[in-house]
Amino acid sequence: MRIARFSIDGNVAFGAVEGSTAPGAEGELVLDIIKGIPFADFELSGTKVPLNKVRLLPPVLPNKVVAIGRNYAEHAAELGNSVFDDQGRPEAPITFFKPSTSVVGPGDPIAYPSFSHDLHHEAELAVVIGRMCREVPKERVKDVILGYTCANDVTARDVQQREKQWARAKGFDSSCPLGPWIETDLDPSDLTIQCTVNGEQRQLGRTSDMVRSIEDLIVHITEAMTLLPGDVILTGTPAGVGPLNVGDEVAVTIEGIGTLTNKVIKRG
Ligand code: MG
Repeated sequence: MRIARFSIDGNVAFGAVEGSTAPGAEGELVLDIIKGIPFADFELSGTKVPLNKVRLLPPVLPNKVVAIGRNYAEHAAELGNSVFDDQGRPEAPITFFKPSTSVVGPGDPIAYPSFSHDLHHEAELAVVIGRMCREVPKERVKDVILGYTCANDVTARDVQQREKQWARAKGFDSSCPLGPWIETDLDPSDLTIQCTVNGEQRQLGRTSDMVRSIEDLIVHITEAMTLLPGDVILTGTPAGVGPLNVGDEVAVTIEGIGTLTNKVIKRG
């Protein structure tokens, strides 16, 4: 099921997306409004609205976004980093937070921060947590996942390089576009992940190239902290990161999910 969050007539609702988004078979998409919330038992109401008549919102409002750095070896290498120790073993994942105020939805603007001159896109598979959990064993990870969506870990690269902590470089307002919806029926282990800027391909990778699997990441994160329903894990970006400029349209497409598109604007 594809679950979108949207506003209609001033109200916020969740809906199940019906209709095909497959290339060549796109039809009119319709939202069947959900009674309840997707983090508990819910029913479809049968009340349907055309998707193009509503405004899509971020598919969740996370309490926290936990992000993983350097989870694709080629991307780590392009920034002069390695993810392996002297014995060739993966090092502990880099983890950081993006605040809830960094989250924006599909079609929302990315506001270029005033304190940066080198904004970068980072296309990432996002995991949406479905239930409160901590110390999750590997074999139980699938039970705590609601589904998957697209993310852009927008990064002020110059600020990231000059400040020891990444809170400003990766946590400014609008630095975490999420969407367009949550796909709940998906095997995330080998999906194409792509980023285009103004229609030109910049990043192309496969989730099978992750250094650490989604299971390993959730075990690692929940060793330390409780995850809440709606929390989001960003799983790292493949190679090909590069600059964004005011006026650019950046799109993250993940096989089996869809496309998240945002435009870069000057911060007002
Ligand atoms: Mg990233």
